[in-house]
Amino acid sequence: MNQETIARRLQIRGTVQGVGFRPFVHGIARQKGIRGWVSNGPIGVVIHAEGQEASLSSFVERLWAACPSAAEVTDIQSIPVEPQGFNDFRIENNLGVAGELTLRISPDLCVCRKCLNELNNPQDRRYRYPYVNCTQCGPRYSIIQRLPYDRPHTTMASWSLCAECQREYSDPDDRRYHAQPTACKKCGPTFRLVENDQVIAAGNDAIQNAAELLRAGRILGIKGIGGYHLACDASNTDCVAALRARKYRKEKPFAVMVKSLNAAYDLVDLTAAHAHQLTSTARPVVLADASVELVGVAPGSSKLGLMLPYAPLHHLLFECGAPSPLVMTSGNQSNEPIAFRDRDARARLDGIADALLVGERPIARRVDDSVVTVDNGDPLMLRRARGYAPSVVAEITTSRPILAMGSDLKNAIALVVDGQVIVGQHIGDLGYLENDRALEETVNDLLGMYEVDLADTVVAHDLHPEFVSTNFARRLGAYRTVGFQHHHAHIASVLAEHQLLNEPVLGVALDGTGYGTDGSIWGFEIFHGSVADGFERCLSLRSFRLPGGDAAVRFPVQSAAGFLHQLDDLPDMTKPPFHFPGRYLDAIRLIDRDFRCFTATSAGRLYDAVAALLGFTREVSFEGQAAVWLENKARQSDHQPAYDFDSFDFRLLMRQIVADRLAARDVEAIAFAFHAAISQEISRQVKRLSERYGVSKVAFSGGVIQNELLRQMLRNAIGQQGGLQLLMNKRVPPNDGGICLGQAAMASIV
Ligand code: ZN
Ligand code: ZN
Ligand code: FE
Repeated sequence: MNQETIARRLQIRGTVQGVGFRPFVHGIARQKGIRGWVSNGPIGVVIHAEGQEASLSSFVERLWAACPSAAEVTDIQSIPVEPQGFNDFRIENNLGVAGELTLRISPDLCVCRKCLNELNNPQDRRYRYPYVNCTQCGPRYSIIQRLPYDRPHTTMASWSLCAECQREYSDPDDRRYHAQPTACKKCGPTFRLVENDQVIAAGNDAIQNAAELLRAGRILGIKGIGGYHLACDASNTDCVAALRARKYRKEKPFAVMVKSLNAAYDLVDLTAAHAHQLTSTARPVVLADASVELVGVAPGSSKLGLMLPYAPLHHLLFECGAPSPLVMTSGNQSNEPIAFRDRDARARLDGIADALLVGERPIARRVDDSVVTVDNGDPLMLRRARGYAPSVVAEITTSRPILAMGSDLKNAIALVVDGQVIVGQHIGDLGYLENDRALEETVNDLLGMYEVDLADTVVAHDLHPEFVSTNFARRLGAYRTVGFQHHHAHIASVLAEHQLLNEPVLGVALDGTGYGTDGSIWGFEIFHGSVADGFERCLSLRSFRLPGGDAAVRFPVQSAAGFLHQLDDLPDMTKPPFHFPGRYLDAIRLIDRDFRCFTATSAGRLYDAVAALLGFTREVSFEGQAAVWLENKARQSDHQPAYDFDSFDFRLLMRQIVADRLAARDVEAIAFAFHAAISQEISRQVKRLSERYGVSKVAFSGGVIQNELLRQMLRNAIGQQGGLQLLMNKRVPPNDGGICLGQAAMASIV
């Protein structure tokens, strides 16, 4: 065996900074007798390792295999270098590589098992301390103000460490070595309970009192990791109704927090995949089929959004007797962005919350709860924020940085540096001034964190000329600014996730609305092509005139008018069984006069129209409500044969549905036959086109793909075609939250 000392320089990529990675490397190096150093470098962690060949290779193996839970290693490059005769292994401070410092920042992490043990141990000096954390857990992105990620650059800067905390912080063998947000009861921030602008309790008394108020049916504003939640007893119907009334939130489902995984099993049907998501370090809200009804929490929905406690404070609240399940919804009024600054929370939650549980540690930026569901055993992201953002979702080759601005609805942005696509947190609907500001801040944050110069950057945006994000992109003064079609970007987001930028595929976009290359509203399209060579639109829904623009999104009968206008021999739709309100007739008149009407091929509006025909004739109170309602109806039906929907001609569909309604067929059965029609005709067309173009992969994306029943039906129908591989989003949402990834992928080509 070769006993000679050799040396290698290892470049490690992934989520490896701010997650205790260097102490981890230090530990393994000592085990394996490796000498040298580890340091944060410009694009990850750099290690200089010296030792015998066998120990070096088992050292590298351990780096892959024993990676700490919060970290993720995506790549290790290893180059031979000259041994320098080190006689120990050291953790170096950051390598000062001037001009190319692109340090990563980790997303916020849930409290770890070891810290929880301390939280519950009366002998520990952090017993019941609500801000306990370590290198493996705690806040990151929500507290960082500038790079590098060191305590003075976080919102913990104003608390200096006590002697004991300082000792832990400086000891490479301690699990709090360089834990930037570390603190304890003696030196760190705490919580206060505030009622009518009066502090009524502080420290653990504040938490105890808050738990008691919640038990007594009061509504509390609670400061969490990325913003304020509004909390109340989810089993207390009056309390939930009061929260809805005060928050002006009629029917949109509330997320609930349960105290343990066991408590989650009591409320929903949890598969192993759901449980895996619930307990992941990101601690997202997980959507699952409800097995009990919590009155008023998710009215009209068969699903419930659940999450487990993730901040130490949440554990303490349940420990102190807070009710479980607990409504934990964003601290805002109706659709506004969630409050995260104390003064703002006081002003905006006034009149909603009976009291505020205010944490002293400031939040540097708003980070909402993430929402995921399970698709075919895999996680499917619906809202990507706390716990995930910012992080790398894909890798693409590019010669210069790319900033992708996303879409105006469910805005999120992406930055491509050094071939890695970093996606920021869900920002929300632009058009709210505060969200526009959040967009600007996030752009500055990411550019700053990765030291990207706009003058060197390609900026990608949606083709929509009136989008806030489009105009923002144009004002940035980038190296180059380029627009991409909305649905091309949806499809490209799937292909980027699957590392398939060059392969020709079919892309099926099933979406609400998106600006088409012809200026009309698209949303039910089949494309052929690739990210590298561009997409060609080969088939669409038969087009219709959508009356009234944006208002049509809120009134399903208005969409229905657009479709029904093309049918002859319609019955009086204002009469039973349809009961369409006057708004329908107004919409028909708009189309007759061709006033304020837009040509459209939107799948979202088709779902709305069918929901209207089946009885959803009122205004929706949240986006996508009618489609969710229609899916629920269909899920209550036995299997039904599909309606005829030949070549996406909706007139065939509508005629059958109108006739079935007049014949008093069950709406559940009609809803099912409609879903079956969509999936079967898509799969028939996909089969035909795949043969014509000689492609074997088909990518699906767009907001309508959030429909679980439709996904299952598509999977079955496409599966039966044989030889076709179906691709969907996983790490970014199929809704507009994933658009930025697709834009970034397309911008990497031009
Ligand atoms: Zn910890
Ligand atoms: Zn301390
Ligand atoms: Fe879209």
